Amino acid sequence: MVLKLYNTLSGEKEVFVPLKDKFAGVYSCGPTVYGFAHIGNLRAYVFADMLRRYLEFKGHIVRQVMNLTDLDDKTIRASKEQGMSLREYTDKFIRFFFEDIDLLRIKKADIYPRVTEHISEMVSMIKILLDKGYAYRKDGSIYFKVSEFRDYGKLAKIDPSQIKPGATVEADEYEKEDVRDFALWKGKKEGEPFWATDIGEGRPGWHIECSAMSTRYLGNTIDIHTGGVDNIFPHHQNEIAQSEAATGKKFVLYWMHCEHLLVDNKKMSKSLGNIINLREVLNRGYKTEVLRYLFVSSHYRSKLNFTWESISHASNTLDRLNQFVERLRDYRSETRDSEETALLIRKTAEKFESEMDNDLNSPGAFAAIFELVGRINPVLEDGSLSAGDAKQVFELMLKFDAISSILTLKEKAELSGKIETLITEREKARKRKDFKLADEIRKRLEDNGIVLEDTSEGVRWRKKF
Ligand code: AMP
Ligand code: ZN
Repeated sequence: MVLKLYNTLSGEKEVFVPLKDKFAGVYSCGPTVYGFAHIGNLRAYVFADMLRRYLEFKGHIVRQVMNLTDLDDKTIRASKEQGMSLREYTDKFIRFFFEDIDLLRIKKADIYPRVTEHISEMVSMIKILLDKGYAYRKDGSIYFKVSEFRDYGKLAKIDPSQIKPGATVEADEYEKEDVRDFALWKGKKEGEPFWATDIGEGRPGWHIECSAMSTRYLGNTIDIHTGGVDNIFPHHQNEIAQSEAATGKKFVLYWMHCEHLLVDNKKMSKSLGNIINLREVLNRGYKTEVLRYLFVSSHYRSKLNFTWESISHASNTLDRLNQFVERLRDYRSETRDSEETALLIRKTAEKFESEMDNDLNSPGAFAAIFELVGRINPVLEDGSLSAGDAKQVFELMLKFDAISSILTLKEKAELSGKIETLITEREKARKRKDFKLADEIRKRLEDNGIVLEDTSEGVRWRKKF
């Protein structure tokens, strides 16, 4: 089965063929570390993580690089406001960023390059662009000359002659020859950090950092470059211009962009006051896996509308999925294996893979899993599933979780003597029709993290999630 990925550049799904054998170099635009990541940013990182996990599932050896933007207008301004050094300030938010991605079970990238530690790579690339005539100096700054780059606008599907200041091009305090031109190097300014380099005193522009750092760690041509849709223009368009002008090679084979996360159908923004970060999700009592589940179960190229109602819903679904898998794990039965179940397991595995092969169609993959759950649950309930088949289903669920990473299976605790006694007492109370006492005991057990379920075969217990 072959993996196809939607390439923003061609506007089509293409078979994924990396540059070199089974190796896959992935560059993902990372955070600007001037504040907490919001859950929209986190959606983009969970998407990059799912992509990476699926590439590994398909047998690729992935090298993933994610930049940490610790130098730009926002980080400089925010650190000044807080009276902290840029390093001190960005270190703090880098720590929070790593906490967030741990909580969301995002696998660590191989390298997290920081802009402030790669100034020389950026200077080298700017020098090449100056030498080749793609860049010019003006008032101490250096700009990329967009009119020199033939393919400008191809990724973003815009006609370069239609680019207007303000609407499409970031407003810049610096003077340039053409409104479309963008800063590669910003000349030294009073009160701002600067570096004394061969090309002058100043600091790099935002776009050059990704071009320079990706080349350093992944070479001139990268297999996959990811980001959110807002990165397409101008950021990624500018990255292509800089890198291809400097190296003469194709910069990226597959461009992949994650759609936005909305909150109550609105864009997350400071002015609307609807920015949500991971701590808020935790404070409201949700496990971060639930947010991850919301992200991975929707298609990365569709807008996702976040509401507190949707996360509450997702929380219940995930609880049921966890219970299902725990039951499979602890299941005992003398029943014989069934051909039909074996076929169902095989079909589910195939469907899961073919959906994911289709540009990571995770909603389709989840539908296959939920169909399996729906069909296995009754035979698990009535004991007509064989122990061998239960094991197979359990293993399939774990295989699927290697990509989605949402399950939180709890160890089955040994029933302490005290809990056993309480359960027996409750049974006796119920037989006496003393339901008040029976309910009190249930409540006490619940307070101790034990949930009782009355089934046709008697009382079952499980640990609360
Ligand atoms: P920033 O820290 O602003 O550079 O953004 C980091 C990443 O988050 C980029 O890849 C953005 O495209 C992405 N991003 C920003 N806002 C959203 C959103 N609402 N939904 C999804 N991704 C987003
Ligand atoms: Zn970038």
